[in-house]
Amino acid sequence: MNWLKFAPVMGVLAFLAAAVGYFVPEARGVALAAVAGFGLASLLGWIETARRYDFGLKEGERLRSEIMGLESEVVRHRDALDDLADGLDAMIFLLDQNLRLLYANSRAAEFFGITDRDGDLLKAITLSDDLDQLTMEVVRTRVGSSREVVLHHPRMRIVQAQCWPEEFGQDRLFLSLRDVTELRHLETVRRDFVANVSHELRTPMTTIRAMAETLEEGEDDGELQVRYLGKIIREVDRLTRITDDLLTLSIAESGTVQKIECDFGEIVGSVVTQLEKKAKEKGLTLSFGRPVGLLVDGNETQLTQIVFNLVDNAINYSNEGEVKVSTTLDHGMVEFRVQDSGLGIGSEHLPRIFERFYRVDKGRSRASGGTGLGLAIVKHLVELHGGEVGVESALNRGSTFSVRLPGRRDDSL
Ligand code: ADP
Repeated sequence: MNWLKFAPVMGVLAFLAAAVGYFVPEARGVALAAVAGFGLASLLGWIETARRYDFGLKEGERLRSEIMGLESEVVRHRDALDDLADGLDAMIFLLDQNLRLLYANSRAAEFFGITDRDGDLLKAITLSDDLDQLTMEVVRTRVGSSREVVLHHPRMRIVQAQCWPEEFGQDRLFLSLRDVTELRHLETVRRDFVANVSHELRTPMTTIRAMAETLEEGEDDGELQVRYLGKIIREVDRLTRITDDLLTLSIAESGTVQKIECDFGEIVGSVVTQLEKKAKEKGLTLSFGRPVGLLVDGNETQLTQIVFNLVDNAINYSNEGEVKVSTTLDHGMVEFRVQDSGLGIGSEHLPRIFERFYRVDKGRSRASGGTGLGLAIVKHLVELHGGEVGVESALNRGSTFSVRLPGRRDDSL
């Protein structure tokens, strides 16, 4: 029994005892004793009540600040989880069992243009039947599942989709989408590359074998023998060029370059001198105004290869006219241009000519000893040197290839 609630009653009784003592003089002794007893009990009761009230206030205060601490802890954890989800290299969704969106990280919100992160059906957001099926399967089985999915909305992407149920209670699902478009593209490029290399190597090998067999069978036509042997040597040279170019390309792709200060005008000059005879034999004019003191930090052999491939192509793909070579400095970039008045390239081919083994005219490329790797090598080497390559061309009117590389003028001259 809680005796504290009798403190007011005790007070009233003490007051009544005092009144009795006042009005009934004969009972004054008993009344005085009752006043003292009831009064003391009441006083103790009030003191205890006050003490407990004070304790309750303090306890309430303590609990309140503890709850506030816990609340801010929860907010901190939630913010950390948000940051984690936003920093992941994947789109993350939290869905209820009806496949309505409860949460999307910022990567997912950005990709699908989700402004209000709540409530919409996953299918309405992604327009993907495959994702719908995957998530429905997980709702049904409560077992995680993953598959590769091609998204068509809002733009084409290949994603590795993974869906799994929340482990404890609530029937919610997680869905993550990791973009593997680039990876699949690289795999296709690599597959095509291997197929192309095999094809490029097999063709001359087949020719060599057929001719060697004919010679082995004892062909005694001397003229034919000489012709076949000449062809065998040309095909072997071709194989050598392909393997040399493949090696150059793989070095360019390895992404490291030992740079030294190079006089770019001098490099272009030496390539022009080297190719002058070839141009003359084709009846072409090769012109170059050599600039003085244009410096590029790079690998001299690789810079020479860039210039050689472009000037050589201009000669190979021109029947008449002029090949103009120029080198200038423009806003901290050395710009190298090769302009020809040759065959030109149709606009449908332009986006692909820097691809490995892409040729506009296979026969012409072969006849000029081309491997189909020259421009791919140029592109990779230029990028390796922090530059960029461009082309403008019109069919039957000629082409202009340009290369821009970080460079400067030699101030000591
Ligand atoms: P290739 O060894 O066949 O010359 P490249 O990679 O150097 O290989 O060039 C790819 C293709 O681009 C060539 O086969 C050719 O069709 C086209 N091409 C390159 N340079 C020129 C040019 N200056 N004029 C016209 N076509 C060109």
